[in-house]
Amino acid sequence: MYGNVEGNTVYEIEGDIYENYSVTKKDYRLEEIKILPPCNPSKIIAIGLNYRDHAEEVKKKLPQEPMLFLKPDTSIIGHEDPIIYPRSSQRVDYEAELAFVIKRKAKNIDKDEALDAVLGYTCFNDVTARDIQSRPGQFTRSKAFDTFAAVGPFIVTDIDPGNLDIKSFLNGELKQSSNTKHLIFNIPYLVSFISEVMTLLPGDIIATGTPSGIGPMSVGDRIEVVIEGVGTLRNYVKAE
Ligand code: MG
Repeated sequence: MYGNVEGNTVYEIEGDIYENYSVTKKDYRLEEIKILPPCNPSKIIAIGLNYRDHAEEVKKKLPQEPMLFLKPDTSIIGHEDPIIYPRSSQRVDYEAELAFVIKRKAKNIDKDEALDAVLGYTCFNDVTARDIQSRPGQFTRSKAFDTFAAVGPFIVTDIDPGNLDIKSFLNGELKQSSNTKHLIFNIPYLVSFISEVMTLLPGDIIATGTPSGIGPMSVGDRIEVVIEGVGTLRNYVKAE
C-alpha cells in the first residue's frame, strides 16, 4: 500500500504513484504501520566519489565523469530494518547519500528536462564492505550484500535538492555533515548522463554519493541518515 504522509497521519493512495493517483480519506497513524521501502526499483544506480572531501579521504582522484555502479534490488531495505553484517567482511561502513526516484521512462534526457523525470527525493545508506571493496578491482561484491541499500523513509516530492544539509549519526554521534550543494555532478547532470547509458524506469533509485566522514559500524549499532527537508532514515546493524 502507498500512502501520503501528512504529519503523523498516512492517507491511503489509490492508483499508480508515478502516473495517476488519488489520496483517499482512509487514514492510519504513522506508529501503527510498518514502513516499507518507498519504491520498487528495477535498478539502483549509485555514484562514487561525488563529493571532493570524500574523494580526498579515500585518496582517490576526482573523476572526470560520474563513476557509476549498480546495487541489486535484493539489497534493498526500508526504514527501521536491520542491516545484516556479513560473515565475510570485517569492516562494514555507512555512507549517507541523497537519492532520487525516477518518475517516468527516460532515455537520452537533456539536462534541462531532467528534473521532469524525477518523482522525488529520499535518504539512502550505501552500505559498503570496505575491506572487500578494493580486492576484486570493482565494487559489486562490496556493495551488493543483502540489506546494503537502505532507503527511505519516504519520497519527498516538493523540494529543491540543490542545497540540503546531509548528515549521518552513529548511535547518536555526528559522523558526516555536508550539503548537497557540494555534489560534483548535480542531479540534472546525472539524469542526463545515466539515461544516455540505460533506460531509466519509474521507481528506479539513483544514490548521488557520500560526503566525507565515512566509517565502520558494528553489530548492535544504530545508524541514521538525516537530510534536511527529506527525513531521517534509521537502521540497526545485526549479525548474520
Ligand atoms: Mg556511496
